[in-house]
Amino acid sequence: MTIQFTTLGCKLNFAESSALAKALMARGHTRAKQGEEADICIINTCSVTDTADHKDRQMIHRVRRQNPHAILIVTGCYAQLQPGQIAEIEGVDYVLGQNEKFHLLEFIDELEQTANAVRPSCGLTDRFTDRPSDDCKISCSPIREVEDFHGAYSKDDRTRCFLKVQDGCNYFCSYCTIPLARGKSRNPSMASLVKQAQEAIDGGAKEIILSGVNIGDFGRSTGEHFIELIRALDALTGEYRIRISSCEPNLLSDEIIDFVAGSRHFAPHFHIPLQSGSNTVLKIMGRRYTRELFAERVAHIKTVMPHAFIGVDCMVGVRGETKECWTEYVDFIESLPVSQLHVFTYSERANTRMLEMDLEVVPLKERERRSKVLHAISAHKTEQFYKEHEGYEAIVLWESSKKDGLMYGFTENYIKVSCPYDRTKVNTFERITVPPQD
Ligand code: SF4
Repeated sequence: MTIQFTTLGCKLNFAESSALAKALMARGHTRAKQGEEADICIINTCSVTDTADHKDRQMIHRVRRQNPHAILIVTGCYAQLQPGQIAEIEGVDYVLGQNEKFHLLEFIDELEQTANAVRPSCGLTDRFTDRPSDDCKISCSPIREVEDFHGAYSKDDRTRCFLKVQDGCNYFCSYCTIPLARGKSRNPSMASLVKQAQEAIDGGAKEIILSGVNIGDFGRSTGEHFIELIRALDALTGEYRIRISSCEPNLLSDEIIDFVAGSRHFAPHFHIPLQSGSNTVLKIMGRRYTRELFAERVAHIKTVMPHAFIGVDCMVGVRGETKECWTEYVDFIESLPVSQLHVFTYSERANTRMLEMDLEVVPLKERERRSKVLHAISAHKTEQFYKEHEGYEAIVLWESSKKDGLMYGFTENYIKVSCPYDRTKVNTFERITVPPQD
């Protein structure tokens, strides 16, 4: 059957969709070509904010419009959190929860047997003109009971591979639904990840991005530790580099930072969720560190890796973020020697503790205004980081994308550079001098 996969959200979702698609192709299914109507459409959704839910619904309508006869399956975080809401959307045939997502192969086998049984002699798409019934079927097990870890690594583009090293989270920050969507923190054995990473490198990947929900919590279900994992991944054979996609500040120890600084393959690139620069708000959020600890981590990184790129997750407009807290927040952010901010505007999420707290609500307009303030600060910090690195000797990994006769790549410290397109350079490392940014 022809399959169309659509993925929204984080690196973890892309790694999972890529692994599932690979398994379906190995089972004899084929990817629907651009513009071709597919027999089965699968949408892997995200639900980190209200906006994400809205984008999921838009995508469901678009995929249905483009594939009027296909079987439409919706899975992922939104499906786990709001299966009923999705089932009410016209045109959805099946809603599969997070755990059921990993049983897609068997599920599609069943669909195929049913279809074959009904009309064995028909052409592929015709088999599905009569979609099962108007009733959308939901299969969604309670996520807190899920113990299984389903491994995944993406191999969609030649250069980069997203390697899933951990899933779920036990932190239950008061504004967050991810533990309700992905379940408890769990991980596979270090040995299985080392094997997958070596496979990806032998398969041609030059960059591996360690992906998960709370990566620093790796080892919770196997008794191993994140520092051991990165040591093992630094000792593989081949030409490669590794990026840690994100790590909670309280789990980003000096030991991990020092190891990255002295490692052979780990990039001096950190992505650290701060979420607020006010200790009062960090407490309301249920975060497990203070802004002082966060500043220490950043200072230590900049001491042992002055050229490191540091990206920071910032949430604005949460309940209880009073004017005073906001002023503290902005002052703190401006004091940090970081390279970029990823700004999220708070949106109320069902079943989160913050909704039960008696706190000041920040009006939507004000949330948007605060988001603009942090975006402006972020643009300034990134410009400053690029300026400081003009003339810096770096190693770029050239990618396959081509635009206006140019090709692009990122240095180890995450500076985007370009050069005239040269097919022989695709997926290769090159030592360069960082040019002034346009
Ligand atoms: S650490 Fe907090 S914000 Fe991050 S996924 Fe876990 S509960 Fe959500």
